[in-house]
Amino acid sequence: MGITYDGPYADLIDSYGHEGYAARKLPGGQLTSIWNYQNREFLGYVAKCECGWTGSTLHPPTEEGREAAHDEWDHEHLQPLINEAKRAWHRWADRAGGDLKDVANLVRDQQFGHAASLLSRLIEQLETRQRVVTELAEGRDR
Ligand SMILES: [Zn+2]
Repeated sequence: MGITYDGPYADLIDSYGHEGYAARKLPGGQLTSIWNYQNREFLGYVAKCECGWTGSTLHPPTEEGREAAHDEWDHEHLQPLINEAKRAWHRWADRAGGDLKDVANLVRDQQFGHAASLLSRLIEQLETRQRVVTELAEGRDR
């Protein structure tokens, strides 16, 4: 089975869309996550992600190779996603600030339904961000 990140940034990086696994590279060149009798002979492991990302290294067809493929997915794909989310706080704050001004304008223009749905979206974002900082405050970062 694959690996899913469940740290503080999980919601922000859509971690369920980024399940990593070690795919087997078959002699024909295809990559497969399915083990069956035909696939027992394989060249090695390649890091893969649910989103389509594929590692560049062919790791040996051993348990160590499988672990190395998982590590490659972690270092080369997952960590950059988390680092990007860590750097994106100010960009998000600017966007959310702009959305709040839009809410004020919508209320001024009596577009209450539209203002309410924009506020709902912002509250959802704030709750997500609150979960992230709460987990960070609890030292759950890795
Ligand atoms: Zn991915």
